[in-house]
Amino acid sequence: MSGCTLCPRACRVDRGAGQRGVCGERDTVRAARAALHFWEEPCISGEGGSGAVFFSGCALRCVYCQNAAISRGGVGAEISSQRLREIFFSLIEQGAENINLVTPSHFAPQIAEALQGGLPVPVVYNCAGYETVETLRRLDGLVDVYLPDFKYADPALAAAYSNAADYPAVAVAALKEMYRQTGAQVFDSRGMLIKGVQVRHLVLPGHLENTYGVIDAFSALFPHGEAGFSLMSQFTPTDACKHFPALCRRLTQEEYERAVDYMYLCGIENGFVQELSSAKEEYTPPFDLTGL
Ligand code: SF4
Repeated sequence: MSGCTLCPRACRVDRGAGQRGVCGERDTVRAARAALHFWEEPCISGEGGSGAVFFSGCALRCVYCQNAAISRGGVGAEISSQRLREIFFSLIEQGAENINLVTPSHFAPQIAEALQGGLPVPVVYNCAGYETVETLRRLDGLVDVYLPDFKYADPALAAAYSNAADYPAVAVAALKEMYRQTGAQVFDSRGMLIKGVQVRHLVLPGHLENTYGVIDAFSALFPHGEAGFSLMSQFTPTDACKHFPALCRRLTQEEYERAVDYMYLCGIENGFVQELSSAKEEYTPPFDLTGL
């Protein structure tokens, strides 16, 4: 972690010496919550709940982040890789269907260490889609399910809201590498996703063209339903959104329906859509260091 290039920001800071890059984290893993989570897609949460570990810090820092308390707010407790592995097994004992690594990218080496020896449940890598291929390759054989966002097809929007104009190109390369590792989706007899890629896209108010671009790119990458697609409706304005007029409201029913229509028009049937009433705060759990 000296000269860190773990993610596309390539800050080249010495995290081992205490320096911090865009993600805001040094070389010791920090997390804000480890608990069963029931608000993922049904094939991820199942009946037992997903064993979610929410890591502190984030390299993308979107202005509309719902988890800002941990992505940029500094909430979190330090844990060793050994302790992280103990946490995985504690969640499994509680009945977790899988281990769900939420915003893990800037701790990929430590997580890879904690995963050595394997786990008796699938490992889900739940990330923003802003990944380098090199870092993903460190996880080859350790991750069963990739659950990446695909936020932007429009570089200008990616620059405006996440300061990452390279996001579209980075995300496409990352999705290809994820699929190379896992292959097409595999479900068990209960309908749980045990292998593959499930891509998420949060529709932003006033930016349907971006959503259409994401759907086009996804369709081109996975023309035969090799990966799943989750079209998410729960955009909720944050304080930081007040500087961005388009983001000062929730999605309308019409906007979301147009996005769903376009998804079906492009032949995507392997996916999830939501009710607009899903836009509730229950999706954000308390980051109170539970389970650490
Ligand atoms: S992981 Fe953090 S320090 Fe390293 S390149 Fe990314 S943002 Fe910068």
